Amino acid sequence: MTTNPFAAEENWYLKMQCESTDLIHQSALAFQQLILTAIVVAGFLYTKTYYDNVRRHYARITVVVIGGGPVGLTAVLIASKNIHVKKIYLFEESYRNNLVNKPNQVAFDFRSVTFLRTLGVDFDNMEGCWDNNIFFTRVGIFQDYLLSLIFKLNTETDVRLGTKFSRENIKDIESIHGRVLVIACDGNDGQASRILGLSDEFANHSYKAYGAVAGITRLDKCHLPLPERRVHNLFFDLSAYGASLDENGKAEGFTLKIFGSSRQRYMTLLVPKSECPMVKTMRLVLDRGMMRNIFVKCYNTYKSQGEVTLSETTAIKHLKFSPRLFELKLFQRLHTVAYFEDDDMFVIVEGESARCGNFHTGLDINNGIRGLMSLTAFISLASCAVTEHAILNAMMYKARHDDNLCREFLRNGLRESMYSSY
Ligand SMILES: Cc1cc2nc3c(=O)[nH]c(=O)nc-3n(C[C@H](O)[C@H](O)[C@H](O)COP(=O)(O)OP(=O)(O)OC[C@H]3O[C@@H](n4cnc5c(N)ncnc54)[C@H](O)[C@@H]3O)c2cc1C
Repeated sequence: MTTNPFAAEENWYLKMQCESTDLIHQSALAFQQLILTAIVVAGFLYTKTYYDNVRRHYARITVVVIGGGPVGLTAVLIASKNIHVKKIYLFEESYRNNLVNKPNQVAFDFRSVTFLRTLGVDFDNMEGCWDNNIFFTRVGIFQDYLLSLIFKLNTETDVRLGTKFSRENIKDIESIHGRVLVIACDGNDGQASRILGLSDEFANHSYKAYGAVAGITRLDKCHLPLPERRVHNLFFDLSAYGASLDENGKAEGFTLKIFGSSRQRYMTLLVPKSECPMVKTMRLVLDRGMMRNIFVKCYNTYKSQGEVTLSETTAIKHLKFSPRLFELKLFQRLHTVAYFEDDDMFVIVEGESARCGNFHTGLDINNGIRGLMSLTAFISLASCAVTEHAILNAMMYKARHDDNLCREFLRNGLRESMYSSY
């Protein structure tokens, strides 16, 4: 029997040919499957993006604002410009007369002015005055102006003046169809966030400075807005109270700011935290006479031209002031955002209800306005969020903004509103 010496090799060759044909078939099949999968995935992504865009376009949210102070009214204006907002409710416990008669002067810095202008606030048509790019007016005038804008809005707006928000109103919110965003702007005594279920915990941060405030109301004067005055590096001779000017030669001087209207004049004094004898005396010695003298002297030396001198007798009768230096602090609400799944409701806190200081700087309102600078983006995120992840994302966005704001106030707040010269 003859054997083919090449048979094994042939077999091997045939087997290899079969295998490679199989491989080519399999690769072609895999490639086909890959193309098919890619087409399906692309189709899915396209449909999803299209669906998301349509959903985002049609996503609608009802906004409820609690508190018609400067911050609440600005929040209404911001919400009215957002395409996702279908209706706005405003609860304010005071009537219009009380709101527009609020006497204290407020000052809007350049950043707030620029932001408010984008919302249609025309400072050139508002009673007030300009100085170094800061606009000074009365808080009542600003609120009156915003209310007039709000009454002209195209967005459906239900303004409930003279209506205090309380537990009973939660039923009203629950009866709103669809997603709701509640913005609590009820000031530093506000209870709304607590009523709505947010915790009342605050973090208090030190500005690393000491300060004192004084104010006088002169009923014979009108509410004429006056530009503020800042003076730096003041030293007081407290030797009569047992304190030498500076034993170590290292004392930092005080910054003084005089602000407010001609009727309500305020003074703030502050100094970076230090243990120099002058600061120590003003911090620890409770001597009303000493503090009154300091404020009277400051006022009479640095008042605006044409302002009446403050006499000792008037000061004794009418000047209200801190009897000693206290530590300056910023109080920041720990939880400024929440989502309640059962009611499909977001709650956020803004203005002095969210953060405020224990010291008037004359530019306090700007902190509240700065908080609102993220509101447009938050409304858009909150109205479109469907998944748990998207809801969390919206909440994280708001919480991050608040944290950054707080850090910025601690870093730059006093520098911007007190320490810097124009
Ligand atoms: C005496 C004084 C002098 C000041 N001087 C200056 C200054 O010179 N410059 C400056 O920039 N800032 C000044 N401020 C601070 C400034 O007024 C505040 O920063 C600003 O008003 C805070 O705005 P807001 O909207 O957060 O709160 P608020 O102005 O306090 O407004 C809160 C609103 O919520 C309403 N409200 C409360 N609870 C409810 C409820 N349950 N239901 C419905 N409505 C409710 C209140 O009626 C109020 O209208 C001063 C403040 C005071 C008190």
